[in-house]
This record gives sequence, C-alpha cells and structure tokens, in this order.
Amino acid sequence: MDKPLLGNVTFVQGARRFLYAVSPKEASFAKLDDVPDYLNEAVPFFLGAIAVEYILAFLTNLPRLRLNDAFSSISAGVFSQLSKIIILSAELVLYLFVYNNFHLVSLPWDSPGTWYLCFIGVDFLYYWFHRAAHEINIMWAAHQVHHSSEDYNLTTALRQSVVQNYTSAIFYMPLALAVPPSIFFVHAQFNMLYQFWIHTEVVRSLGPLEYILNTPSHHRVHHGRNPYCIDKNYGGTLIVWDRMFGTFQAETDEKVAYGLVHPLASWDPIWTQLCHLCHIWKTFWETPGLKDKLSVLLKGPGWTSGKPRLGDPADLPEIEYPIQRYDSSLSYWGNLYVLVHFAVAIVAYQLLIARRMVMSQLHALGVISYFIFTISSIGAIFDNKWYAPYMELFRCLLFLIVDLVLSSQNLDTGVLPTGYIGVIRGIFIGSAFLWISGSLMSSKNKLKIQ
Ligand SMILES: [Zn+2]
Ligand SMILES: [Zn+2]
Repeated sequence: MDKPLLGNVTFVQGARRFLYAVSPKEASFAKLDDVPDYLNEAVPFFLGAIAVEYILAFLTNLPRLRLNDAFSSISAGVFSQLSKIIILSAELVLYLFVYNNFHLVSLPWDSPGTWYLCFIGVDFLYYWFHRAAHEINIMWAAHQVHHSSEDYNLTTALRQSVVQNYTSAIFYMPLALAVPPSIFFVHAQFNMLYQFWIHTEVVRSLGPLEYILNTPSHHRVHHGRNPYCIDKNYGGTLIVWDRMFGTFQAETDEKVAYGLVHPLASWDPIWTQLCHLCHIWKTFWETPGLKDKLSVLLKGPGWTSGKPRLGDPADLPEIEYPIQRYDSSLSYWGNLYVLVHFAVAIVAYQLLIARRMVMSQLHALGVISYFIFTISSIGAIFDNKWYAPYMELFRCLLFLIVDLVLSSQNLDTGVLPTGYIGVIRGIFIGSAFLWISGSLMSSKNKLKIQ
C-alpha cells in the first residue's frame, strides 16, 4: 500500500518528484503560497536514499560515504537554507518584483503550455547560470562550495553555497516577463530535486536516456578535476544544452578524481564557504593595473595575466594515482560524540523550520547561531585543531547557561518539545564532563592524506 510518509506525500509521489516525473495537472498552482515546499517535503526521502546508496556501495565495493565528508556536505546544505528562514529566498523576492512591475504578458497559470515552456525555460537558463558560475571567478567563489567534496555520493548534492541563490536569481529574470511566479517556483524546485539523485556512483549508465538527460555519468564528469573534465556538462535536468553549446564531455575510462583543482583540505564549514573569496581578495590586490584587476573578478578561476579567458588547459595538474583525498579519523567514541551532537543540531533545525512562523525573530536567530557554532566546532574536531576541545567545552557550557537562564525565567523558546529537553540537557552535561576530564580527542585523532 502506498501510504503517506510525511504530510500527504506518498512513497511513489516522493520518488517521482526526484525524477521530475510530474504532470502539469498535479503541479500547477494559481498562487505562490499554494506551491508546496517540495524541498522540505523531500527530507525523509533524501535520508532514505542516502541509506540505500550506502548499502549498495557496500555491496558493490564502491567508495562509501565518509563521516567527515558527509558532515561537511550536509552542514553546508542546512547552512545554505538558513538564510531563507529570515528572508524569503532571493530568487523568489527578485522574481516577484520583476513579475509584478515589468511583466509584458501574463501566461495562464493553468495551461500545460505555460508549464512546459517554464520547464524548458528554467532548465535553459540554469545551464547559462551554471556555466557562468564556473567561468566567472567571482561567481565561482560561491559555486566552488558544491565542488569541494572529494567524494561523490548523494550527500554531495546537499553541499551548497550560502550566497549562490543571490547570483542565480538574476539569470531567471527573463521568465519573470511572462511566467507566473507560482509556476516558476514549481520548476525551480523540481530542477533542484532532479539534481539530487544524479550525485551517485551506483548508477553507471542510463542507455539511450544519456542523449537527452543529465545523468549520474555526465554529472560525475562535471565534478571531476581531471583536465578532461574541467568546464564540462553544465546541464541541470537536460544534457541537450551542453551538446548544443559545445560543453559536452562523455565519461571515459580515465578514473574521475573528484573535487577542486586546488583542494580545500579542511572540514571547517565557514572556511568552505569563504576560502575562494579570500583567495580572490588577495589576488585582486596583488594584481597590478585596473584591467587585470577586473579580469581577476570576471574571467575564469584559472585565468592569469596574458592567458586565455578560461586559463591555459596545459596549466592544469595531472591526476596522480592512487587518488589522494583529505581525510582524518576520530576514535570510535569521537565519531559517536560528533554524530550525537550533529543529530541534535539537525533536529533543532527541523523544529526551527516547522515552527518558524510562531517563533520570535530573536529565538530563531538564537537557534541559527547555535547551529552555526555547532557545525564550526565539529569541523574543528575533524580538523584536529588545537583549540577544538576548548571550543567544544565552551559550546556545551554556553548551551547549559542559556538553558538555565531561559528556564529560570520560565521562557519557552518553543524550539524543543518539553519531553526532549531533559535528554538534551543530559547530553550536554555529560559532554561538558567528558571535555573537562579530557577523555575525548585522544591521540588516535590524526590527520592523514589518504
Ligand atoms: Zn558546477
Ligand atoms: Zn553537482
């Protein structure tokens, strides 16, 4: 029986949504407010699919998910969604503004013609946004976050930039001249949902569908740092745009090495977001002459003075085999500790999403700060930073003090159901004790390049 898993989403519906297998009849809405939050409704399906992929990778001897890398990807995903709690997504704000003030015609929201036109339009404009995100250095500063994982699995899809939303908004503006915002919002979400499942090594080839669709095989090439993979396969749902505009590259026998040409080598979630921006800032001031300074911002990330716009392909380093990846390992208890605290932070985030309408801005900001502090601290533990134990002890004590102040004043933050707060308090008191006694971060935590 196909019973609803979450709200009114059934298993079959949830699965179809990942594949863009929806019809205009079931996914057309008159008003923007009526459009479902497809991305949030997909969360249980994301988690289920990640578990299934893990088992399949185990059975077929493919590289399995690593806790540190998965943590890094999932926290970037949640981080990128946090800003949308305070302000509506930038894409939508700009789209509504342009549509309300400048639309030339208003296509009927309930016509299949409008729906299919918008499907093609969103995918076509996504291609150009994505291409610009790779070919314009200042846009790459945001998009490189998505490419910073050296693994390739479903969690990689969640690794997103916090600010990218603000740059992609501009590319979708031509649609706002005619297509109602509700229909645009449906396709903007489905285009993102489709791109989740193609981040996998489990699916090798889709046969004839490889000609039209962006598939796991095509997207693996897109995530490669091998010279033959650079600046290829920008498509979202369809691969036809790459075939038309000369950026298509099929997967070859050469093993794909994933990640950035200059590896990030950090699990710090804030540094992951900012590293390339800092690099651009430095290069900008070091580069003489206004023309070259502008080129640093607007040409490709591989550009240097006197070189072609996208840099010289001969400058790209060849891949050394066996492929090296940044890695670190914690003790068994260290892993368990990180898992528990990350899970508590994810639950707090989910509750924040569910209750954001009834929660005060101050409390929402409190939960957001707690989340960012938690992922930074876990990143420091994974990176084996000398200050990680102090930072984590401080975080645990701060949580307990804030909790004490709030409960002494009988203030309900509305974040945690009362039944859970006892368990959470227990976890934080136990954790603080562990750090004070020095039982965590044993000498087993060594960084290694794998
Ligand atoms: Zn990309
Ligand atoms: Zn990707």
